Amino acid sequence: MEHIVRILAINSVTHNVKQFIIEKPDGFTYTPGQATELSVNEPEWIEQKNPFTFTSLTDEHYLEFTIKIYTDHNGVTNHLNELKIGDELILREAWGAIEYKGPGYFIAGGAGITPFLAILRQLNKEGNLADNKLFFANKTDKDIILADELKSMLGENTLFTISDQKDSVHDQRRINEEFLKAQVTDFKKHFYVCGPDPMVAEITGILTKLGADAEAVVFEK
Ligand SMILES: Cc1cc2nc3c(=O)[nH]c(=O)nc-3n(C[C@H](O)[C@H](O)[C@H](O)COP(=O)(O)OP(=O)(O)OC[C@H]3O[C@@H](n4cnc5c(N)ncnc54)[C@H](O)[C@@H]3O)c2cc1C
Repeated sequence: MEHIVRILAINSVTHNVKQFIIEKPDGFTYTPGQATELSVNEPEWIEQKNPFTFTSLTDEHYLEFTIKIYTDHNGVTNHLNELKIGDELILREAWGAIEYKGPGYFIAGGAGITPFLAILRQLNKEGNLADNKLFFANKTDKDIILADELKSMLGENTLFTISDQKDSVHDQRRINEEFLKAQVTDFKKHFYVCGPDPMVAEITGILTKLGADAEAVVFEK
């Protein structure tokens, strides 16, 4: 089923990530970690259906999406970047991307944090966040989506890693086998991995080798 929904607010999250607050149709439901296909309600854009993850708490009266904008070509996110309050999107059914199955390790790259943002916010609200750890990889400090919120929810259980900024205040290790062996105390816990294809492929490969079972979603090829 398709719903035409209006944009209620647009906020800047980082230099290339925006938060879109949109209308929530009556009775619309989803679970944290789920995504949907969105398109812009303009004739030439309706068929451009791209997946995005709900980052709102499920009981809010609106829906929130946290979207990385690619301005280097004329794709959907570049067009979303030009939209204003009151413009319309087409919202479709929610479908499963990543589901929380129990305490463990969340490993994200860039916009791959979005399903975890939804899950972690919900767990935080319910007081069930303890025993979860986040490893969040980005190129530079300014790319980290909602660093303060993540830190305030997870405290010491947050680890940001930075790959392309020598003077970063954060950890500069790659999330590889050596890193995981050093940081993970229990490979029998749940692992949730989301990010660009090469990162997800490498990390799930290492986790399998180390005896862990990972749920993974690829965000970009
Ligand atoms: C289940 C799921 C959930 C997702 N949830 C989110 C989310 O919540 N937030 C979010 O930000 N993303 C999310 N994504 C990723 C998101 O769907 C894509 O980033 C988005 O669809 C990109 O759309 P686009 O049309 O702007 O770019 P696309 O055309 O799809 O291109 C995406 C990538 O390819 C590069 N690229 C493609 N064509 C060109 C070109 N001609 N020139 C230069 N570069 C090019 C872009 O730079 C970019 O790296 C999700 C993906 C999946 C699978």
